[in-house]
Amino acid sequence: MSDTVKPGKLYVYSGASGVGKGTIMKELLKADDSICLSVSATTREPRPEEKNGVHYYFLSREEFDSIVAEGGFMEHATYCNNSYGTLRSEVEEKLAAGKNVFLEIDVQGALNIIKDYPDCVSIFIMPPSFETLEKRLRARNTETETQIRNRLETAMREIKLSEVYDYCVVNDDLDKAVEDVLAIVKKESEKN
Ligand code: 5GP
Repeated sequence: MSDTVKPGKLYVYSGASGVGKGTIMKELLKADDSICLSVSATTREPRPEEKNGVHYYFLSREEFDSIVAEGGFMEHATYCNNSYGTLRSEVEEKLAAGKNVFLEIDVQGALNIIKDYPDCVSIFIMPPSFETLEKRLRARNTETETQIRNRLETAMREIKLSEVYDYCVVNDDLDKAVEDVLAIVKKESEKN
């Protein structure tokens, strides 16, 4: 019997702020234990429910910049005035252990990963409408009015770029969106 593990696939997983990517992600992690999420680093302040090392590694500007200088990020980007980055250390070991590693990242980061890792699979989560997105973002009540405006403008730009992704999943109904992503993972795992 061979003990060689088939490496997992790298997934780029994006969608506008407030689209429900985090909620879908929680369900994916429960439903399929081949899936794991890479925890990113950020300079943004934690939201009340967020925990260091679980939702993000919350870093100072100096800590973040020193990881950039050491080449410790697979990609990093500025989103609405804060820095976010994918840590190599989070991803490489998990892929080698056969996990399908999801990077929940913005479109700029996604474009860099798609260029540098052409075998990755990219999924964009689309809101059913722009109005729904605005409503969800406001209902979340975690950003100021200026931050909400900024996130909505960014969302508009991101949705326009969504055509570069391999798959687009509309989050109209949570269960259906989760099923759609699980079906993509199953299909991709069956390929070589
Ligand atoms: P939030 O502040 O709402 O947690 O995240 C803002 C945006 O940054 C989201 O689109 C999220 O997917 C993205 N993001 C989170 N981590 C990373 C990362 O490591 N790299 C990049 N490029 N974007 C990230």
